[in-house]
Amino acid sequence: MKAMLLSRLGSLANNRRPLRLSDLPQPEPGAADLLVRVSACAVCHTELDEIEGRSPPPHLPIVLGHQVVGRVEGMGNQVSAFEMGDRVGVAWIYSACGRCKFCLQGKENLCPEFRATGRDVHGGYAQYMTVPSAFAYPIPDDFADVQAAPLLCAGAIGYRSLKLAELQDGQNLGLTGFGASGHLVLMMVRHRYPNAKVFVFARSARERAFAQDLGAVWAGPTEEEAPSKLDSIIDTTPAWKPVVQALKNLEPGGRLVVNAIRKEDLDKDYLLEVDYPTHLWMEKEIKSVANVARSDVREFLALAAEIPIKPAVQEFGLSEANQALAELRKGSIRGAKVLRID
Ligand SMILES: [Zn+2]
Ligand SMILES: [Zn+2]
Repeated sequence: MKAMLLSRLGSLANNRRPLRLSDLPQPEPGAADLLVRVSACAVCHTELDEIEGRSPPPHLPIVLGHQVVGRVEGMGNQVSAFEMGDRVGVAWIYSACGRCKFCLQGKENLCPEFRATGRDVHGGYAQYMTVPSAFAYPIPDDFADVQAAPLLCAGAIGYRSLKLAELQDGQNLGLTGFGASGHLVLMMVRHRYPNAKVFVFARSARERAFAQDLGAVWAGPTEEEAPSKLDSIIDTTPAWKPVVQALKNLEPGGRLVVNAIRKEDLDKDYLLEVDYPTHLWMEKEIKSVANVARSDVREFLALAAEIPIKPAVQEFGLSEANQALAELRKGSIRGAKVLRID
């Protein structure tokens, strides 16, 4: 099968083509696994963290990709929940132990044995992959394959971020960074909390215009002060400046939710700008979002079908994955980038 393979970690600034189109043997499903013929795999900022070593794959070479849509083309003899030809999705959570205190409380996203699709095991930048059937999801009919793919990470983690933000209807929510996840969160908020106001901080004028098209009441540059204080803010940027700038916009008791698997170190010095009375005093909180649980993916897919959310997507071929990643890194984004795989 064809796959885009990562063999060596390093900065994308030095190597603009980190993935190589390769021929790999088609994977064999284990007894509880599905064999999925991949049709679409969305591109995520986490892939940049994997390639550049901030969240390194434990083994190389590896096939990246954790927002996968495809059809069941084979299965082990213990699988009963799916049939051949079923359309399924695979998300960032590839497996968890099911026995630890986190798993038993439904917090499988915190499991010490958490394995991530496309980092710890081969993912969806390929024609085929296998997945434990308990970690695959039926995809609602409402979505085309390329539309469903970005829902599986950007959407599911956006959903988890919004849960952790504990937004109430009528409150003010900030979004700092407005990429794939931010635009889906904005759509969710407008449906679920019709009286909430959304304020968007984004570095590019195009992203700000996109946010306002989608219903943000205000959009401004990252360092700007919002016209109202915000009850919670979700940060989806890779940088530190937006974190510090967001804190000054929070209401007393407000919470900043950081949705990033790793932050880049480029502007880490900016943290020295933290002024305790301006940024943290008055019981302001900072909380990170780690991974997703299966319940986040299932609940979000149902919500996305109900709204319905049809993400704006930009399509690439499998062999164009390097270009999709380069464009994502530059921040030239309007919606989600998706590899279409035949
Ligand atoms: Zn992701
Ligand atoms: Zn566990």
